[in-house]
Amino acid sequence: MNINQLLRQNIRQLTAYSSARGEFSGEAKVFLDANENPHNAPYNRYPDPLQRELKQELARLKGCPSEQIFLGNGSDEAIDLLFRAFCQPSVDNVVSISPTYGMYRVAADINEVELRQVPLNEDFQFSAADLLAAADEHSKLIFICSPNNPTGNLLDAKEIEKLLLGFSGLVVLDEAYIDFAPQASFLPQLQGHENLVVLQTLSKAWGMAGIRLGMAFASKAVVEVLNKIKYPYNINMLTQLKAKELLQEQTLFQQGVSELLSERSKLASALEKLPFVQRVYPSDANFLLVKMHDAEGIYLYLLEEGVVVRNRSKVLLCENCLRITVGAPKENELLLSKLNDLI
Ligand SMILES: *Cc1c(COP(=O)(O)O)cnc(C)c1O
Repeated sequence: MNINQLLRQNIRQLTAYSSARGEFSGEAKVFLDANENPHNAPYNRYPDPLQRELKQELARLKGCPSEQIFLGNGSDEAIDLLFRAFCQPSVDNVVSISPTYGMYRVAADINEVELRQVPLNEDFQFSAADLLAAADEHSKLIFICSPNNPTGNLLDAKEIEKLLLGFSGLVVLDEAYIDFAPQASFLPQLQGHENLVVLQTLSKAWGMAGIRLGMAFASKAVVEVLNKIKYPYNINMLTQLKAKELLQEQTLFQQGVSELLSERSKLASALEKLPFVQRVYPSDANFLLVKMHDAEGIYLYLLEEGVVVRNRSKVLLCENCLRITVGAPKENELLLSKLNDLI
């Protein structure tokens, strides 16, 4: 894969902004280079534009070299930057599946890039051959999501492998929910596949949606491109400090995931017993996709009762489906008691 050939020409030729903190980050007696205020330490200083300490922590945790990690203001930043780096508006296109995470569509629309969505089959799986058939010489990226949102299932790893081998652009694999899944991440495959980009986030299993930290793991060349076009200080100091602190809490993290998985199976069995529930789809994530009679009516009823779930009933293959996040035991009990009142 030739990354330069894949890039938009203007990005290839771009001279990146060079920030004071990017040019000099060593030990100094005084920093008088960035027009910062001398008071309010440490928050008076611009944060590390390349988030080196935080990346070292993540590198250890994920077994992936720092130079192959890009950090964004949520995964959403990485998604948008991939479009901006590789897709010439009104010329290039991107291939994805349907249904899937809505941000791929929004990022495509904002960047004026055609998004070709290939429907999943009845089992919510995709065929690599179908996706590759939807691609042409202007297809720069393929976006897939495993476990997929809103269907909740892992996608077939063999088909993902086929995409990696068969596509000359980048295959972006969104693993926002991988920590809840019984299958390993594709991160180790970065070694053998230059065209793989794995997206992960601290927003789900790590419980840090509020601090906004998304990760893209990719070849060094792709990470360099994303770093070149991002805002210089895209991850603020509070986020970098808090993330480093919380990443030390491995045990709490594991306990949280275990509790969630046990709540997920309890919630699934309880939902299955409700007479108006037709199907609780198997989930490898922290939510359940549930097919029921009159999903819209039940959605509105729950809203009135102060219980907010996601109405996915107008989404392809998700007719009459609600997407329900697995909460804490008390929250799940409240949801179930409100649903039981309907009988
Ligand atoms: C929740 C979610 C994310 C996380 O996005 P952030 O911007 O990191 O919070 C990414 N991808 C998918 C599919 C998601 O459902």
